[in-house]
Amino acid sequence: MSAWSGVLVVGGGCVGSTLACALAEAGVPVQVVDPQPAPRDWPEGTVDARVYALTHASRAIFSNLGVWEAIRAGGACPYERMEVWDAEGTGHIGFDAAETGECCLGHIVEQRVIIGALLARLDALGVERRTDALVGLQVAPDHVEARLASGERIRVALLVGADGARSRVRDLAGIGLDVLDYEQTAVVAAVRTERPHEHTARQRFMPTGPLAFLPLCDGRSSIVWTTTPEAAEDLLEMEEGAFCEAVTEAFGRRLGRVLSAESRAAFPLRRRHARHYVRPRIALVGDAAHTIHPLAGQGVNLGLLDAAALAQVVQEARGRLRDPGQYLTLRRYERWRRGENLLMMRAMDGFRWLFGSRQPLLREARNLGLRLVDRAAPVKLVLARRAMGLEGDLPQLARLLR
Ligand SMILES: Cc1cc2nc3c(=O)[nH]c(=O)nc-3n(C[C@H](O)[C@H](O)[C@H](O)COP(=O)(O)OP(=O)(O)OC[C@H]3O[C@@H](n4cnc5c(N)ncnc54)[C@H](O)[C@@H]3O)c2cc1C
Repeated sequence: MSAWSGVLVVGGGCVGSTLACALAEAGVPVQVVDPQPAPRDWPEGTVDARVYALTHASRAIFSNLGVWEAIRAGGACPYERMEVWDAEGTGHIGFDAAETGECCLGHIVEQRVIIGALLARLDALGVERRTDALVGLQVAPDHVEARLASGERIRVALLVGADGARSRVRDLAGIGLDVLDYEQTAVVAAVRTERPHEHTARQRFMPTGPLAFLPLCDGRSSIVWTTTPEAAEDLLEMEEGAFCEAVTEAFGRRLGRVLSAESRAAFPLRRRHARHYVRPRIALVGDAAHTIHPLAGQGVNLGLLDAAALAQVVQEARGRLRDPGQYLTLRRYERWRRGENLLMMRAMDGFRWLFGSRQPLLREARNLGLRLVDRAAPVKLVLARRAMGLEGDLPQLARLLR
């Protein structure tokens, strides 16, 4: 056992805060460091530009950590159906929660609601959260020392990088990264439409990228429009009226006219995968370890599973009086999660390639494929259950519903 038993989580976003909650619940001494102050106040009626489609596995994690009720109360919109169709053909696939035996396919939630609920829980659990940034680290045989921007130094048995796509921890630990620039940008916004969303998530695939409408609790929809960087720039600069018109047409008027749009933001899209998730006394979780294309809304869900898996590995090591920062202990986490994440990344790249192609033969094949899968109930059920986070090698926290 290391003389230092605690864990330092670098980054208090959704994934880092979830990990800290899970460790604190298991009695592991943990602290969080993040330069961003806690987002406690939010102007009335505005929507966070970052909105997530949470799977059932993510809901189970939040439920087991005692934060789901606060998230639900803050605004978690269940979606009961999903429709996906090809703009260049007749291919269409629909999913209905009733066919899966679940009450809904998932929930759409704003990031600020999740973080607000997690921070309140961290406060209740007595977890210290420092408003500071990691600037250096030094690994010794029995501990790791973090250096913060304030000059403070913290020694712990394990340091976790949950510091997002441009992870400082990853760089400081010398962990390499495989990067693929999708040469696409996602434009997000909250829009009001002429027709109600009917608790249905919809996605229209165009050769330049998909346009998704995700239902929000207040009747609006959160859109994610993946397109070329040039088109994204134009969309960001447009007057609101022109932007609404562009979204209306791109979505084929499926929900009638788009009447208003706010919280417009753009995110360049890159697939990143860390070559290692662990080093002695260091582990990466969430976007620090991987970022994927948002077309199936799986990014944060994978990160939450990382957090639950790492918490389980650390907890089990402590239960056997083993050092949680030891490389052998951490390797178990890496073997578990790297394979699962890679599988999802490959699936997303396959979809992107298939729907991005203008080749007539491929276009025909994908439209036919969509129609066939739509009629093949057992195949559809397997796909839906995987996307809903009901299948796969799930950590305990993602299974047990209190
Ligand atoms: C357009 C778009 C749409 C998306 N839609 C979905 C969706 O529908 N569903 C889904 O599951 N995922 C979605 N994602 C992915 C999702 O946004 C990410 O997977 C998720 O935010 C990752 O969370 P995280 O906590 O790992 O990282 P982040 O949210 O990036 O948090 C990292 C934290 O680390 C802190 N930090 C950074 N540097 C330091 C430092 N040096 N020291 C200390 N702290 C530091 C930051 O302040 C931040 O709080 C989408 C992504 C994009 C781009």
